[in-house]
Amino acid sequence: MKYYSTNGKSDRATLQEAVVKGLASDRGLFMPEVIKQLPASFFEKMKDMSFQEIAYTVADAFFGEDVDAESLKKIVYETLNFDVPLVPVNDNIYSLELYHGPTLAFKDVGARFMSRLLGYFIAKENQKEVNVLVATSGDTGSAVANGFLGVKGIRVFVLYPKGKVSPIQECQFTTLGQNITALEIDGVFDDCQALVKSAFMDADLNNHMKLTSANSINVARFLPQAFYYFYAVSQLHKLGKKDNIVICVPSGNFGNITAGLFGKKMGLPVSRFIAANNKNDIFYQYLLTGKYSPKASIQTIANAMDVGDPSNFARVLDLYKGSHEAIKSEISGCTYTDEQIKDTLKECYQKNDYLLDPHGAVAYRALCEHLKGNEVGVFLETAHPAKFKDTVENIIGEEVVVPQKLQEFMKGKKQSVELSKDFDAFKAYLMTK
Ligand SMILES: *Cc1c(COP(=O)(O)O)cnc(C)c1O
Repeated sequence: MKYYSTNGKSDRATLQEAVVKGLASDRGLFMPEVIKQLPASFFEKMKDMSFQEIAYTVADAFFGEDVDAESLKKIVYETLNFDVPLVPVNDNIYSLELYHGPTLAFKDVGARFMSRLLGYFIAKENQKEVNVLVATSGDTGSAVANGFLGVKGIRVFVLYPKGKVSPIQECQFTTLGQNITALEIDGVFDDCQALVKSAFMDADLNNHMKLTSANSINVARFLPQAFYYFYAVSQLHKLGKKDNIVICVPSGNFGNITAGLFGKKMGLPVSRFIAANNKNDIFYQYLLTGKYSPKASIQTIANAMDVGDPSNFARVLDLYKGSHEAIKSEISGCTYTDEQIKDTLKECYQKNDYLLDPHGAVAYRALCEHLKGNEVGVFLETAHPAKFKDTVENIIGEEVVVPQKLQEFMKGKKQSVELSKDFDAFKAYLMTK
């Protein structure tokens, strides 16, 4: 399968090129040339298949032309070695808990899949070592570092702002060792991101080493997120709920929801999507006005969604051939303040005895407000509430138990390389690697 750029100004790439490069040379995002329809027979028997079996069928449609069946199956099964339960929260709203992976965040799925696919290509072609640069405000760094840990032929550099990530998150990428290096930058998240961007543009560095990114611009990270949309629908079918399924996604960079939209193009019976936003409401405004006006991001308590210029918007636009009408007909939006997020989290806990995290709370509220009587709603619960322990405890006034898996990270020894936010220093460091 070939991949084209959303900017339309660079040559078509193979899957391997798209995964290794991340971004097309015209700075556009890669899109698969064909989105394969899955047969009706698959949708009929989906309810009797395991999560891994369903995921493999979807993965085969995306990557089957470029990866041999046995390797692809192994990648899928290794990636999804944890449960994704669909939990009823009230009468017609279900939570798809995507936080049972190693770092308790949905990004584990994409990060694990991408690391293994990249590892597969490096091993197959006996390629030069690849260096993954990732800037993080917390969650991406931990998922990527853990996803890539120990994968041969890949080194990961996690850049994070000194003193600005939570202690648990910091432990999740500074205690791993092996092929993971944490770079503690004296600056804010935007400085980290700027360093990574400059590195990708720097000719000396690119001659010296092979560099790639691991955020949701990479096709190998965002496409696998389609797997659990199919699984959610299969579980609803099992419960006899087949019609008018609505999926609501707490959105930041829009990689997650874009994967769901791909699922719909492949025939997944979902009637519509809701993109739930915090105060960073760029997409919501786009739906209202037809104009896309990126802004500086605003800090909120659902901070993994604090994105003022969502990169995957380009993919959404491309999927619907730029038509505002077509986008509006399948996706609606909403935007909530921190106060509303807090109220929702607290009320849901008191009424339903179900603890949300701030991101899931945004999506749950959207379903409560916008689901019609004949519809059934699923929201993606993207992180375990204990990852936002202080915030959640302040809202509900009770202690939140930290799962064992998360506590384990706190035991390791922190190791990081301290750097200024100056590009020359960062470059000089990488040139020694
Ligand atoms: C990354 C993240 C999101 C946003 O996902 P996008 O794919 O960027 O839209 C939502 N919730 C949590 C907890 C996240 O870590």
